[in-house]
Amino acid sequence: MAAPGIPPPSASQAAKADSGGGGKKSRHLPELIRLKRDGGHLSEADIRHFVHALMDGSAQDTQIGAMLMAIRLQGMDLEETSVLTRALAESGQQLEWPRSWHQQLVDKHSTGGVGDKVSLVLAPALAACGCKVPMISGRSLGHTGGTLDKLESIPGYNVTQSPEQMRRILEEVGCCIVGQSEKLVPADGILYAARDVTATVDSVPLITASILSKKAVEGLSTLIVDVKFGGAAVFPDQEQARELAKTLVSVGAGLGLRVAAALTAMDNPLGRSVGHTLEVEEALLCLDGAGPPDLRELVIRLGSAILWLSGQAETQDQGAARVAAALDDGSALRRFQLMLSAQGVDPALARALCSGSPKQRRQLLPHAGQREELLAPADGTVECVLALPLARVLHELGAGRIQAGQPIRPGVGAELLVDVGQWLYRGTPWLRVHLDGPALSSQQRLALQGALVLSDRAPFKAPSPFAELVLPATTAQP
Ligand code: URA
Repeated sequence: MAAPGIPPPSASQAAKADSGGGGKKSRHLPELIRLKRDGGHLSEADIRHFVHALMDGSAQDTQIGAMLMAIRLQGMDLEETSVLTRALAESGQQLEWPRSWHQQLVDKHSTGGVGDKVSLVLAPALAACGCKVPMISGRSLGHTGGTLDKLESIPGYNVTQSPEQMRRILEEVGCCIVGQSEKLVPADGILYAARDVTATVDSVPLITASILSKKAVEGLSTLIVDVKFGGAAVFPDQEQARELAKTLVSVGAGLGLRVAAALTAMDNPLGRSVGHTLEVEEALLCLDGAGPPDLRELVIRLGSAILWLSGQAETQDQGAARVAAALDDGSALRRFQLMLSAQGVDPALARALCSGSPKQRRQLLPHAGQREELLAPADGTVECVLALPLARVLHELGAGRIQAGQPIRPGVGAELLVDVGQWLYRGTPWLRVHLDGPALSSQQRLALQGALVLSDRAPFKAPSPFAELVLPATTAQP
C-alpha cells in the first residue's frame, strides 16, 4: 500500500502489482540481476522484491553492487524509475504535517558539486520568507561534498531527528536539515552508501529515485533540484544533465510533486571554499549578506524559483527580492542559528558562530593542523580553477570516503585565493590547502597546480553558473 501522502499508483500499475507485477511472480535476486544485466525490464514486483531484500538484509552486498551496476549500465525506463522511487520512499515513514502548511512546504536538492554549500544558506533563507523546509539531505558522494557532513563539522549538530522532532523544529524555526535514517527512507541509505563505493553514482534512474524518494516522504508542494553539469559534476555534459532534469520533473509529477530543475555549471568550485568546515564558514558569510557573488546568486536564483513556483511570490523577481532581503537583513542568519540550536548545537556556540567575525568563527570550528600555499607558476588571467582535480586531492587527504561509513576529516579543505577572470602574477599564492598529517606529496602538488588554468586574454567578469530552468509541463513562463 502507498504510504500516506504519496499518491497511489494508477489502476493499471496497481493491477500489475497485485498480480505480482505484469502478471508474473517476482524472481529470485540472481535472476533479477541477470535480467537487468541483459537489458530487460524489471516489473513492479521485481523492483519491490529487490527493495524488500535490501530492507530485510537478505540481499548480499555483492548482489546489491551487481544490481546497481546492471542498472547503471542498462538504465531504467520512466516506469521502472517511478516504481523504484516509490518503493524506496515506502521503505520508511511518511512525514505528515498540518494541512494548512501545504503550500509553504518546499525544498531544494542538488545532484552534487564541489564547494556547493547552497542548502546551508537557502533552507534558512526560505524559512525567513515564510516557508517550511523539511530538508532530508545526503552525505558526500564520490568526489562531491554532502550537506550532512558539512553540518556535522559543527560540534553537536545532530542530523538524526525523529518525525516528531522535525515537526517541532518546523513549527518553531521553519527549516531543518536531517539525514535519512532507519525511519526515513532507509532503503535509499543502503543504496546511497553502496553507490558511493561501486562507481554507480552517475546513473539517471538511480539519482532520480534517490533524490525523489527522500522528497516524496517530505510531503512537499514544490521542489527545485540543482542539476549540475561540467567537469566536476556527476554528468559533465549539459545534454545528459538535461535528461536527468527532465526525468526528475516527470517522475516528480507522477508522485504529485511540482518539481523544477535548474541546470547550473560545475567546472569551477562554487564560492571560494571547499571542505566541510571551510564551507560552513563561507555559508555563514553568505548569511551575513556578503560572501562570494556566485554563491549568493545561486541561492537567490533557486530561492526565487521556489517562491514563485509554490505560489508564494507573484514573479521570480519578487521572489528574488525577498530572498536577497532575508540574506541582507539578518533574518536568514537568525533562522540558521535557531536551526543549529534546535538540532543539538549548544545555543551559546550557535549564537557565537552566527554573531562572530570570520576570525572568531574560525576558532569555534574544528580545523586541520597544517596549511600549505600554492603559487602561480606564471603570469596570466585565471581562466578556470578545475574543481575535479582539486576535489580528488582533498578526497585523498580525508575530506571524502573510500569505504562506506568511514569517518571524514572535517577540517581538510582548500581556500581559493583568486577569482576566475582576475589577472595573476607569477609567484602569487592562489590556493591555501588545509590538511592533517603529512605534507602534500609531489604528485598531489602537481595535480593541484594542474587545476589552475591561466590564459593570456584580458581579465573578465566570471560568468554566472546558472544556465537554464527546466519547468513542469503545466507551468506558465515567468
Ligand atoms: N543526491 C542524492 O540524494 N542522491 C543522489 O544520487 C545524488 C544526489
